[in-house]
Amino acid sequence: MTTADESEPTAREAFSLLGHEIRLEILLALLDGWRAVYTDPRSYADLMDAVGMRDSGKFNYHLDKLRGVYVREVEDGYVPTASVTALYRSVLAHRPTERTEYDPTAIDSDCPRCDAKAVLRYNRGFVSIECSACDDWAGFTYPFPKNGFETRNADAVARATVRRARHHIGMARTGQCPFCAGGTAVDIDLETTAADDQMIEIACDTCTFLVGVEPLQSLLTDNRVAGALADVGVDLERYDWELPTPAMRIKSRDPGRVVLEVDGEMGSATILVDETFSVRSVTTDR
Ligand SMILES: [Zn+2]
Ligand SMILES: [Zn+2]
Repeated sequence: MTTADESEPTAREAFSLLGHEIRLEILLALLDGWRAVYTDPRSYADLMDAVGMRDSGKFNYHLDKLRGVYVREVEDGYVPTASVTALYRSVLAHRPTERTEYDPTAIDSDCPRCDAKAVLRYNRGFVSIECSACDDWAGFTYPFPKNGFETRNADAVARATVRRARHHIGMARTGQCPFCAGGTAVDIDLETTAADDQMIEIACDTCTFLVGVEPLQSLLTDNRVAGALADVGVDLERYDWELPTPAMRIKSRDPGRVVLEVDGEMGSATILVDETFSVRSVTTDR
Protein backbone atom coordinates (compact mmCIF):
# COMPACT_ATOMS: atom_id res chain seq x y z
CA MET A 1 0.00 0.00 0.00
CA THR A 2 1.41 3.36 -0.99
CA THR A 3 0.34 6.66 0.41
CA ALA A 4 0.83 10.17 -0.86
CA ASP A 5 3.98 11.69 0.60
CA GLU A 6 5.50 15.15 0.25
CA SER A 7 7.32 14.28 -2.98
CA GLU A 8 4.15 13.20 -4.77
CA PRO A 9 2.34 15.93 -6.69
CA THR A 10 -1.12 16.71 -5.39
CA ALA A 11 -4.20 17.04 -7.61
CA ARG A 12 -3.75 20.83 -7.42
CA GLU A 13 -0.17 20.61 -8.70
CA ALA A 14 -1.13 18.15 -11.42
CA PHE A 15 -3.96 20.39 -12.66
CA SER A 16 -1.82 23.52 -12.48
CA LEU A 17 0.67 21.95 -14.90
CA LEU A 18 -1.97 22.15 -17.62
CA GLY A 19 -2.22 25.93 -17.41
CA HIS A 20 0.54 26.72 -19.88
CA GLU A 21 0.30 26.98 -23.66
CA ILE A 22 3.51 25.07 -24.45
CA ARG A 23 2.77 22.26 -22.02
CA LEU A 24 -0.74 21.94 -23.44
CA GLU A 25 0.68 21.74 -26.96
CA ILE A 26 3.06 18.97 -25.88
CA LEU A 27 0.24 16.97 -24.31
CA LEU A 28 -2.13 17.47 -27.22
CA ALA A 29 0.61 16.34 -29.61
CA LEU A 30 1.08 13.17 -27.55
CA LEU A 31 -2.67 12.54 -27.27
CA ASP A 32 -3.23 13.15 -30.96
CA GLY A 33 -1.69 9.83 -31.95
CA TRP A 34 -2.63 7.98 -28.78
CA ARG A 35 -3.89 4.44 -29.40
CA ALA A 36 -3.91 2.93 -25.90
CA VAL A 37 -1.32 0.17 -25.53
CA TYR A 38 -0.55 0.31 -29.28
CA THR A 39 0.76 3.86 -29.05
CA ASP A 40 4.04 4.51 -30.84
CA PRO A 41 6.27 6.77 -28.77
CA ARG A 42 7.05 10.15 -30.31
CA SER A 43 10.71 11.00 -30.59
CA TYR A 44 12.09 14.14 -28.98
CA ALA A 45 12.66 15.81 -32.37
CA ASP A 46 9.23 14.83 -33.66
CA LEU A 47 7.52 16.10 -30.54
CA MET A 48 9.41 19.39 -30.60
CA ASP A 49 8.47 19.76 -34.25
CA ALA A 50 4.79 18.99 -33.55
CA VAL A 51 4.73 21.70 -30.90
CA GLY A 52 6.38 24.08 -33.37
CA MET A 53 9.30 25.01 -31.15
CA ARG A 54 12.84 25.91 -32.10
CA ASP A 55 14.19 26.75 -28.66
CA SER A 56 15.18 23.39 -27.18
CA GLY A 57 16.01 24.94 -23.81
CA LYS A 58 12.47 26.25 -23.37
CA PHE A 59 10.96 23.05 -24.80
CA ASN A 60 13.06 20.95 -22.41
CA TYR A 61 11.99 23.03 -19.45
CA HIS A 62 8.30 22.39 -20.08
CA LEU A 63 8.74 18.75 -21.08
CA ASP A 64 10.58 18.23 -17.84
CA LYS A 65 7.72 19.74 -15.83
CA LEU A 66 5.32 17.23 -17.40
CA ARG A 67 7.62 14.27 -16.94
CA GLY A 68 6.33 11.65 -14.55
CA VAL A 69 2.92 13.29 -14.09
CA TYR A 70 1.69 13.40 -17.71
CA VAL A 71 4.62 12.32 -19.87
CA ARG A 72 6.78 9.24 -19.63
CA GLU A 73 10.06 8.74 -21.39
CA VAL A 74 10.41 5.28 -22.90
CA GLU A 75 13.10 3.73 -25.07
CA ASP A 76 12.04 5.29 -28.37
CA GLY A 77 10.68 8.60 -27.15
CA TYR A 78 7.75 9.89 -25.16
CA VAL A 79 4.25 8.59 -24.36
CA PRO A 80 1.38 10.08 -22.36
CA THR A 81 0.86 8.68 -18.84
CA ALA A 82 -2.34 6.96 -17.70
CA SER A 83 -3.27 10.13 -15.76
CA VAL A 84 -3.48 12.29 -18.83
CA THR A 85 -5.10 9.67 -21.04
CA ALA A 86 -7.77 9.12 -18.34
CA LEU A 87 -8.33 12.87 -18.18
CA TYR A 88 -8.51 13.01 -21.98
CA ARG A 89 -11.03 10.17 -22.08
CA SER A 90 -13.15 11.86 -19.42
CA VAL A 91 -13.23 15.10 -21.38
CA LEU A 92 -14.27 13.23 -24.54
CA ALA A 93 -16.92 11.23 -22.65
CA HIS A 94 -18.46 14.13 -20.74
CA ARG A 95 -18.08 16.82 -23.46
CA PRO A 96 -17.80 19.60 -20.91
CA THR A 97 -17.92 22.37 -23.50
CA GLU A 98 -21.20 21.28 -25.06
CA ARG A 99 -24.60 22.13 -23.69
CA THR A 100 -27.15 19.35 -23.74
CA GLU A 101 -30.68 20.46 -23.12
CA TYR A 102 -32.78 17.44 -22.45
CA ASP A 103 -36.46 17.80 -21.66
CA PRO A 104 -38.05 15.07 -19.54
CA THR A 105 -38.94 12.34 -22.03
CA ALA A 106 -41.32 9.41 -21.50
CA ILE A 107 -39.71 5.97 -21.72
CA ASP A 108 -41.17 2.48 -22.19
CA SER A 109 -41.64 1.88 -18.46
CA ASP A 110 -44.12 2.78 -15.76
CA CYS A 111 -43.78 4.11 -12.23
CA PRO A 112 -43.73 1.10 -9.86
CA ARG A 113 -45.99 2.99 -7.42
CA CYS A 114 -48.73 4.53 -9.53
CA ASP A 115 -48.36 3.08 -13.06
CA ALA A 116 -48.00 6.51 -14.69
CA LYS A 117 -45.32 6.82 -17.37
CA ALA A 118 -41.71 6.99 -16.25
CA VAL A 119 -39.70 9.89 -17.66
CA LEU A 120 -36.00 10.32 -18.24
CA ARG A 121 -34.18 13.54 -17.34
CA TYR A 122 -30.53 14.50 -17.74
CA ASN A 123 -28.93 16.87 -15.33
CA ARG A 124 -25.29 17.55 -14.35
CA GLY A 125 -24.10 14.29 -15.87
CA PHE A 126 -26.76 12.16 -14.21
CA VAL A 127 -29.55 10.25 -15.91
CA SER A 128 -32.64 10.20 -13.69
CA ILE A 129 -35.73 8.09 -14.23
CA GLU A 130 -38.72 9.30 -12.30
CA CYS A 131 -42.50 9.23 -12.26
CA SER A 132 -44.33 11.73 -14.45
CA ALA A 133 -47.19 11.94 -11.94
CA CYS A 134 -46.42 11.05 -8.31
CA ASP A 135 -43.71 11.72 -5.72
CA ASP A 136 -44.01 8.30 -4.06
CA TRP A 137 -41.21 6.68 -6.01
CA ALA A 138 -37.59 7.66 -5.34
CA GLY A 139 -36.71 6.80 -8.94
CA PHE A 140 -33.38 5.79 -10.36
CA THR A 141 -30.34 8.03 -10.79
CA TYR A 142 -26.89 7.20 -12.08
CA PRO A 143 -24.06 9.13 -13.75
CA PHE A 144 -23.96 8.75 -17.51
CA PRO A 145 -21.53 10.53 -19.83
CA LYS A 146 -23.08 13.06 -22.20
CA ASN A 147 -21.46 11.24 -25.10
CA GLY A 148 -23.83 8.33 -24.43
CA PHE A 149 -26.69 10.38 -25.88
CA GLU A 150 -25.01 10.74 -29.25
CA THR A 151 -26.49 7.66 -30.89
CA ARG A 152 -29.34 6.73 -28.52
CA ASN A 153 -32.95 7.76 -27.99
CA ALA A 154 -34.40 8.07 -24.46
CA ASP A 155 -35.33 4.37 -24.18
CA ALA A 156 -31.87 3.30 -25.29
CA VAL A 157 -30.24 5.77 -22.87
CA ALA A 158 -32.37 4.38 -20.01
CA ARG A 159 -31.31 0.82 -20.87
CA ALA A 160 -27.67 1.76 -21.29
CA THR A 161 -27.66 3.61 -17.95
CA VAL A 162 -29.21 0.67 -16.11
CA ARG A 163 -26.71 -1.75 -17.66
CA ARG A 164 -23.83 0.56 -16.82
CA ALA A 165 -25.02 0.95 -13.22
CA ARG A 166 -25.45 -2.80 -12.71
CA HIS A 167 -21.99 -3.46 -14.04
CA HIS A 168 -20.36 -0.78 -11.88
CA ILE A 169 -22.32 -1.66 -8.77
CA GLY A 170 -21.60 -5.38 -9.14
CA MET A 171 -17.92 -4.59 -9.32
CA ALA A 172 -18.03 -2.17 -6.41
CA ARG A 173 -20.00 -4.62 -4.26
CA THR A 174 -17.25 -7.19 -4.73
CA GLY A 175 -14.51 -4.81 -3.61
CA GLN A 176 -13.30 -2.83 -6.61
CA CYS A 177 -14.12 0.78 -7.42
CA PRO A 178 -15.15 0.94 -11.11
CA PHE A 179 -13.48 4.33 -11.48
CA CYS A 180 -10.18 4.17 -9.60
CA ALA A 181 -9.69 0.44 -8.84
CA GLY A 182 -9.42 1.28 -5.14
CA GLY A 183 -11.03 -0.78 -2.40
CA THR A 184 -14.70 -0.32 -1.64
CA ALA A 185 -16.73 -0.79 1.52
CA VAL A 186 -20.31 -2.01 1.65
CA ASP A 187 -22.46 -0.59 4.38
CA ILE A 188 -25.73 -2.16 5.39
CA ASP A 189 -27.71 -1.25 8.45
CA LEU A 190 -28.43 -4.60 10.09
CA GLU A 191 -30.77 -2.95 12.58
CA THR A 192 -33.35 -1.85 10.02
CA THR A 193 -33.06 -4.58 7.39
CA ALA A 194 -36.69 -5.62 7.51
CA ALA A 195 -37.85 -2.35 5.95
CA ASP A 196 -39.03 -2.38 2.36
CA ASP A 197 -36.96 0.64 1.48
CA GLN A 198 -33.65 -0.66 2.83
CA MET A 199 -30.71 0.65 0.83
CA ILE A 200 -27.14 -0.51 0.92
CA GLU A 201 -24.37 2.01 0.50
CA ILE A 202 -21.16 1.28 -1.38
CA ALA A 203 -18.29 3.77 -1.15
CA CYS A 204 -14.75 3.98 -2.47
CA ASP A 205 -12.03 4.93 0.00
CA THR A 206 -9.99 6.82 -2.62
CA CYS A 207 -12.12 8.69 -5.15
CA THR A 208 -15.64 10.08 -4.88
CA PHE A 209 -17.55 6.94 -5.90
CA LEU A 210 -20.57 6.51 -3.63
CA VAL A 211 -23.85 4.80 -4.44
CA GLY A 212 -26.96 3.88 -2.51
CA VAL A 213 -28.69 0.90 -4.10
CA GLU A 214 -31.55 -1.41 -3.41
CA PRO A 215 -30.26 -4.75 -2.11
CA LEU A 216 -31.30 -6.90 -5.09
CA GLN A 217 -29.92 -4.36 -7.56
CA SER A 218 -26.43 -4.86 -6.13
CA LEU A 219 -26.59 -8.64 -6.63
CA LEU A 220 -27.75 -8.89 -10.25
CA THR A 221 -24.28 -9.44 -11.73
CA ASP A 222 -23.60 -12.42 -9.47
CA ASN A 223 -23.84 -15.50 -11.70
CA ARG A 224 -25.62 -17.65 -9.14
CA VAL A 225 -28.16 -14.95 -8.38
CA ALA A 226 -28.78 -14.25 -12.09
CA GLY A 227 -29.16 -17.98 -12.79
CA ALA A 228 -31.58 -18.52 -9.92
CA LEU A 229 -33.68 -15.49 -10.85
CA ALA A 230 -33.91 -16.72 -14.45
CA ASP A 231 -34.93 -20.15 -13.14
CA VAL A 232 -37.86 -18.72 -11.20
CA GLY A 233 -39.02 -16.52 -14.07
CA VAL A 234 -37.56 -13.11 -13.19
CA ASP A 235 -36.59 -11.41 -16.46
CA LEU A 236 -33.31 -9.56 -15.91
CA GLU A 237 -33.73 -7.70 -19.19
CA ARG A 238 -36.31 -5.59 -17.38
CA TYR A 239 -35.39 -2.34 -15.68
CA ASP A 240 -34.25 -2.66 -12.06
CA TRP A 241 -37.39 -0.93 -10.76
CA GLU A 242 -39.59 -3.42 -12.61
CA LEU A 243 -38.05 -6.39 -10.79
CA PRO A 244 -39.83 -7.86 -7.77
CA THR A 245 -38.97 -6.33 -4.39
CA PRO A 246 -37.43 -9.05 -2.24
CA ALA A 247 -38.56 -9.80 1.29
CA MET A 248 -35.57 -9.32 3.57
CA ARG A 249 -34.85 -10.72 6.99
CA ILE A 250 -31.86 -10.95 9.26
CA LYS A 251 -30.83 -14.52 9.85
CA SER A 252 -28.11 -13.63 12.32
CA ARG A 253 -26.28 -10.52 13.50
CA ASP A 254 -23.01 -12.17 14.49
CA PRO A 255 -21.93 -13.26 12.01
CA GLY A 256 -24.09 -10.95 9.89
CA ARG A 257 -26.35 -12.98 7.63
CA VAL A 258 -29.26 -11.58 5.65
CA VAL A 259 -31.79 -13.54 3.60
CA LEU A 260 -33.50 -12.14 0.52
CA GLU A 261 -36.51 -13.95 -0.88
CA VAL A 262 -37.46 -13.07 -4.44
CA ASP A 263 -40.76 -14.23 -5.87
CA GLY A 264 -40.80 -14.89 -9.60
CA GLU A 265 -43.53 -16.16 -11.90
CA MET A 266 -42.28 -19.75 -11.62
CA GLY A 267 -41.15 -19.97 -8.00
CA SER A 268 -38.97 -18.19 -5.48
CA ALA A 269 -35.23 -17.69 -5.07
CA THR A 270 -33.56 -17.45 -1.66
CA ILE A 271 -30.29 -15.53 -1.51
CA LEU A 272 -28.12 -15.61 1.60
CA VAL A 273 -25.59 -12.77 1.95
CA ASP A 274 -23.17 -11.73 4.68
CA GLU A 275 -22.61 -8.28 6.22
CA THR A 276 -20.50 -7.20 3.23
CA PHE A 277 -23.23 -8.39 0.87
CA SER A 278 -21.10 -11.26 -0.43
CA VAL A 279 -23.33 -14.06 -1.69
CA ARG A 280 -23.11 -17.10 0.58
CA SER A 281 -25.68 -19.33 -1.01
CA VAL A 282 -28.53 -19.26 -3.52
CA THR A 283 -31.39 -21.75 -3.67
CA THR A 284 -34.59 -21.91 -5.66
CA ASP A 285 -37.99 -23.36 -4.93
CA ARG A 286 -40.09 -23.96 -8.03
ZN1 LIG B 1 -45.84 7.34 -9.79
ZN1 LIG C 1 -12.65 4.97 -6.47
